[in-house]
Amino acid sequence: MTARAGRPPASGRLAARADRLAARLPDAGVDVMLVTNLVNVRYLTGYTGSNGVALIGPETRMFITDFRYVEQAAEEVDPAFDRRQASLDLLEAIEDVIAQSDARVGFEEAHVSVRQYARLRDLLPERYELIGLDGLVEGLRAVKEPEEIERIRAASELADAAFERLIGGGLVGHTERGLAMALEQTMRELGALRPAFESIVAAGPHGALPHATPRDVEVARGQVVVIDWGAELDGYCSDCTRTVGAGETGPEVADVYRLVLEGQLAGVSAVRAGADGREVDGVARAVIDAGGQGERFGHGLGHGVGLEVHEAPRLSQRTEDVLRPGNVVTVEPGIYLPGAFGVRIEDLVVVTEDGCEILTHISKELIAAD
Ligand code: ZN
Ligand code: ZN
Repeated sequence: MTARAGRPPASGRLAARADRLAARLPDAGVDVMLVTNLVNVRYLTGYTGSNGVALIGPETRMFITDFRYVEQAAEEVDPAFDRRQASLDLLEAIEDVIAQSDARVGFEEAHVSVRQYARLRDLLPERYELIGLDGLVEGLRAVKEPEEIERIRAASELADAAFERLIGGGLVGHTERGLAMALEQTMRELGALRPAFESIVAAGPHGALPHATPRDVEVARGQVVVIDWGAELDGYCSDCTRTVGAGETGPEVADVYRLVLEGQLAGVSAVRAGADGREVDGVARAVIDAGGQGERFGHGLGHGVGLEVHEAPRLSQRTEDVLRPGNVVTVEPGIYLPGAFGVRIEDLVVVTEDGCEILTHISKELIAAD
């Protein structure tokens, strides 16, 4: 076992994932699909190393890696897959393992470089057609199995506990970077493999940058601090944001905070199976628009979370995604006032038939932490 691996899921579930993908291939117009995105390879086969590809078709379950990962693959890869060893250039093996009948070969167009594409074209005899596919495995990943939801729930609980510990230690006089490091250290102590992404701790005007990088600057009393963090546990991510006062923060912050919170609560209450991502985004956005701050909410309302911290489906004005039971998404409106401060509130939720279950269990009141 490697540290990266965590507990491998039971083999039955992985085999069912490959079956679901294979069942979708005829509609996608391909006979066999080459999966090169390592997160998708992991999802389908269980493999967690850094060089491996899978080939999946109605009759094909093939996994290819190089000599460095042969043992790891033997432990991790679902027995439904035939395992092959190849040179470092895994694509070289494709020629041998693609069957005569697999004339139409699908590949992940968002994850294959121009160079890899040219290599594939070179390796495969001319009669094979290469067909770019988009989001096929990601669409499967978006609907979580109960075991996946349990892992995300555990990651979220761990992240909650790390935050409570951080806030208990106070903010004033600590640097943004020191606070981010403390939060990440605590997540590791509590069992996280690593932070799910680079934590954001952004005080005062810096909080008006939605993707601020923590600085070696101390948090001053009276500033409002945006904290956005997540844990990776057993391969799955969490994602949460809270905005906290470093002591008392005054009426302007309170007003903006209340508006973001109203938008956030409205967004959460609009989440349900069958709602589309644009509609849910629109519900939260309407609240913030009505409060006169629509211009200051410049990003989408939320995104899916799973093996990756940003995945399908999306909640925004620019998506066609429709929510399904088992989607795990964030709901995270924000208002950013340049030169002054920012407020963002983000919960992680599981979509259910008639609503959602909130996985984040930290208070959403504006707290004053000295
Ligand atoms: Zn976040
Ligand atoms: Zn997020």
